[in-house]
Amino acid sequence: APASDAGGRSGGDDIKAHFVFIPIMFQGHLIPAVDTALLLATHGALATVVVTPSYTSRIRPTIDFAHTSGLPVRLLELPLDLAAEGLPAGADDVDKVPPDLWTNYFRALARLRTPLERQLLADADVAHPVTCVVADFCHPWAKELAASLRVPRLCFFSMCAFCLLCQHNVERFGSYDGVADANELVVVPGLERRVEVSRAQAPGFFRDMPGFEKFGDEVEQALVEADGIVTNSFLEMEPEFVAGYAGARRMKVWTVGPVSLFHHRTTTTTSASRGNTAAIDADECLMWLDDKEPSSVVYVSFGSLAQANSKQVIELGLGLEASGHPFIWVVKNAHQHGQDVIEFLHELEGRVAGRGMLIRGWAPQVMILSHVAVGSFVTHCGWNSTMEAVAAGLPVVTWPHFADQFLNAKLAVEVLGIGVDVGVTEPVMYRMDLKEIVVGREVVEKAVRSVMDGGEEGEERRRRARVLAAKARDAVEEGGSSYGNLLDLVKRFEVDTAGCVVATA
Ligand code: UDP
Repeated sequence: APASDAGGRSGGDDIKAHFVFIPIMFQGHLIPAVDTALLLATHGALATVVVTPSYTSRIRPTIDFAHTSGLPVRLLELPLDLAAEGLPAGADDVDKVPPDLWTNYFRALARLRTPLERQLLADADVAHPVTCVVADFCHPWAKELAASLRVPRLCFFSMCAFCLLCQHNVERFGSYDGVADANELVVVPGLERRVEVSRAQAPGFFRDMPGFEKFGDEVEQALVEADGIVTNSFLEMEPEFVAGYAGARRMKVWTVGPVSLFHHRTTTTTSASRGNTAAIDADECLMWLDDKEPSSVVYVSFGSLAQANSKQVIELGLGLEASGHPFIWVVKNAHQHGQDVIEFLHELEGRVAGRGMLIRGWAPQVMILSHVAVGSFVTHCGWNSTMEAVAAGLPVVTWPHFADQFLNAKLAVEVLGIGVDVGVTEPVMYRMDLKEIVVGREVVEKAVRSVMDGGEEGEERRRRARVLAAKARDAVEEGGSSYGNLLDLVKRFEVDTAGCVVATA
C-alpha cells in the first residue's frame, strides 16, 4: 500500500530529515511511537509511521489531526504475511494471536523487512529520502533494513532509563547466575542506591519466554549495534539513570518525553481517541468529572494487555466501593467474564451511582488523567501509564503485573516517592494461567485510602508528584531537555545537499 498523504508541509523544501518509525503493534509501543513521530514533525522533520492493517484505524485520528495541523506525517500500511507463518486470518491484531504462535507472529513481523525496503525505495521521494530508521527494540531485523538503506538506526523504547539500566546491569554482571529461585531478590549492581529485584520481576527482554532464547540475543545484538536510543522519559526525572544507561551502552540516549503531553495541543476528540476508539462519549465523561471536587477521583486501569480473573475483578470492585472515594474504573474485556462478573458489575454500578463510573473497554486515559478532578491513579505501571501519571502530577498505587512493570513501580515508589505499593511481588504473566486473587479487597481499600489520604505523608507524596509534573512540562517546552533532544535529532539526522546523512550518533 502506498504511503498516505504527508499532509500540509510535506512538500516544503525546508524538510531535511525523514524518520521512518517502525513500532511493534502493541498499544503500549505504538501509541508513544506515533506521538514521538508527531513531535519530530513539529520540529520540521518528515515522519513515516509503519503500521499493519488492524491498527491503522486506531491511530488514524491522531494522524488526521497532524494533517489538519499541517504536520508532515505519513502512514505506511503494510500487511503481515500471516499465511507464511501459519497464523490465522486477523492475527495481525495481537489480541488474536494464539498464545502458542507468538514466535510465528514475531517471524511474520521480520518478514516486513523486504516489502518495507521495497516500498521505501519505490516511493523514495528524491526531495525527502529516508535519513533515519527509528525501530522498536523488538524489531532486531531493522538492523539489516537500515544497513541496506544506508541510514542510521535508532532503537525506540517507551521505558524509563532506570528500568533499562537495572535490566542491563543484572544481565551484564550475571546477577541471577546460580540463583535457583526466580523469586529470590538480588541487589542490582552498579547503582548508587540499593535496588532489589528478582528474576521473575525483571527477567530482561524476552529472557523469560520459551522459544524466544535466540530472539532475545538478536534483540540485544541489534541494540549494541544501534546508533542511539530514543525513549519516552525526561532527563530531570532520572538524570543519574539516563547518564548511567548512556554510559553503560556507550551511546547517546535521547529522552523525548513525556510524549503524551503532545496531546495538550490536540483537541478533546483527538486526545480521547488516542490509540483506539473510546468506549465512552468523551463529553459525557468530562461532564461527569466536572461535577466532582478537585483531586477527588481515583482512576483505575491496567493498560491494554493485563488481565484479571473473575474473582480478582470482584475483589477490586469491592475494594473500590469500600474506599468511599469517587472512582473511574476501566474494566477490560468485561464481556469475556462469566455471568457472575457481569451481574456484579451491574449491581455495583447501582450501588455507587454518581460516585463510581465503569468504562467497559477503551478509556480516553490521557484526557481523564489531565482533568483536575482526578486525584490518583491505580495502575499496572506500564511505562506509558506511569509517564502519563507523572505528566498529570498524580500519585499512583502501583500494582505491577509483568514485563518492565515491577521496575517502573520501584521507580515510582522508591526513587520518585510518588507511589503507594499495593504489595504484589510475583508476576502474573500475559495470557497465562491467572491465580485466584492476587490482591484482596481490604488491600485495595487500604491502598486507595492511603494514596488519597489527606495526612502529611499523602500530602508530601502529592507535592512530589506536582513538582515532577512541572518538571515534565518544562522538559517539553521550548528550552526544555526533551524539546532540545527532539531538535537535536532533527538536526543530526538531516541530509546534506549531496544526499548524505550529515551525522550519526
Ligand atoms: N490506554 C488508553 N485507554 C485504555 C487503556 C490504555 O488510552 O483503556 C493507553 C494508555 O494511556 C497508554 C497505553 O494505552 O498510553 C498503554 O500503555 P502502558 O505502557 O501503560 O501499558 P500496556 O498496555 O503496554 O501494558
